[in-house]
Amino acid sequence: MPIYQYDCSGCDQRVDVFFRSTSNVADPVCPECDGTNLTRVMSTFARARSSSDRVDSIDFNQEMGRLGGGGEGEFARWAKRVGKEYDGELGSNFGEIAERAEAGEDPVERVDPGFKLKHAIDKKKSGGDDSGGAGHGDHSH
Ligand SMILES: [Zn+2]
Repeated sequence: MPIYQYDCSGCDQRVDVFFRSTSNVADPVCPECDGTNLTRVMSTFARARSSSDRVDSIDFNQEMGRLGGGGEGEFARWAKRVGKEYDGELGSNFGEIAERAEAGEDPVERVDPGFKLKHAIDKKKSGGDDSGGAGHGDHSH
């Protein structure tokens, strides 16, 4: 669901306007005063809050392609990048796994990182919303 920020000239406030779909974004209405004289404020911040959009944008096959042969060094770099991009969104712990891999621990996740990533994406998409949890719920082992 897109969220855009507008400056409303009716009530002189900066407001967040929610749209049910991207098709009716053309007619924003101020949630404060029902005014229609709104000026769009470009903000990547508001957009980034829509986490389901972010999860949808993860291209699983592309990520697996980037993993390459999955050698130790490759895996550590891959997990580090995936962790940086998606850990916050998915509640996964790829960043942590990357650190372990770099420390030479050869984490079990290296055997099948695709399974772990897919599992995290599916869990998020299926609405398994464990907000408030520590974000390290992992039942794969
Ligand atoms: Zn207003």
